[in-house]
Amino acid sequence: MPTPSSEETLSSWLFRCSINPNAAGFPRLSSTERPAYWWEGVEIKYSDPDSEFLSASQRLSCVAGDITPELLRNFFCLRGDKLVEWRYRRFFCPDCLRDDVANGRLPIWRKDWCYIYSCVCAAHDRELVRLVDTPRYSRAWDAFVQSCNSISNNASIEETLFFRFCSSTFTKIEHALISRDNQQPTLHDLFYRLFNIFLQCPFRGSRGGIARIHLQTRKDARAPDASSFEQSILLGASTADPSSRFGSLVLTASLLEIIPYSRFLIFTKLCEKRRGGMLIPRDLHKAAIFPYINRAGYETLYRFLGGFPRKDFPLLDRHLQLQEHSYVQDGVLGKRLFGYSQ
Ligand SMILES: [Zn+2]
Repeated sequence: MPTPSSEETLSSWLFRCSINPNAAGFPRLSSTERPAYWWEGVEIKYSDPDSEFLSASQRLSCVAGDITPELLRNFFCLRGDKLVEWRYRRFFCPDCLRDDVANGRLPIWRKDWCYIYSCVCAAHDRELVRLVDTPRYSRAWDAFVQSCNSISNNASIEETLFFRFCSSTFTKIEHALISRDNQQPTLHDLFYRLFNIFLQCPFRGSRGGIARIHLQTRKDARAPDASSFEQSILLGASTADPSSRFGSLVLTASLLEIIPYSRFLIFTKLCEKRRGGMLIPRDLHKAAIFPYINRAGYETLYRFLGGFPRKDFPLLDRHLQLQEHSYVQDGVLGKRLFGYSQ
């Protein structure tokens, strides 16, 4: 059996096993998007193949009896619940895949690409790119085929500097969220909710969350059809491109004062340089404006943000006051203000 990499997802390793000539006894995996039967008799229509540890161990027991669900979980477990849905796990780093092949192994799909916050590859200082095909078990191979003819490392100095800035910002945010985990349990939730609001999918003619409006790379990229305003928020982060995700990370972290205002200003300047003419307001409160909504939309947004002590987040508090003021002018503000449960 191929040795699993510590960075690898379960489905990626299973695919590598299935086409390994030395791994006798492995039925070849169907590489369709969602095979009705995974290996034999295990239906995974509704589950996530990257966390199907029990099913995988049952099938693997025929060829390697000592593989338990716990062992698989130890190797392949994904962190937390901030995962992109299986069908939207599309973004990858072509240079990582090239490294795999250069090191004599099949390309592997990284865990680091599976999270809603994933946007840059820290190892290669580059933005993740999109897998064009529908994601399947063989997605790492498909991604390699898609990108193997493209030229590697052709980024300009400006691009490289920009992605270094992205990587260091991302690391700062990650550390802050981890280190304040115990003191402020609401911080994680609040971060997640604001991050999604700024990435809302376009819905019924609206252009979606402000991070998408400012930063989405392909303006023609089709967003999935959301059936409700709430779903358009919930699907936001999973379906947004890496550029919009990074923008939303910066807006959210700035409002929660996880990163200093100066870093937000550097971000706006770098974006301007990188794509001439693209202006992000230097005023954070204007840059991070909430979506245009009706009365029902306000109630949904209110529920989605939930209750939290606004006084603990002074900059966000000020920002919410400004949003509420603008919603008053639009005549859509509900009875309760954001964050207050009464
Ligand atoms: Zn990489």
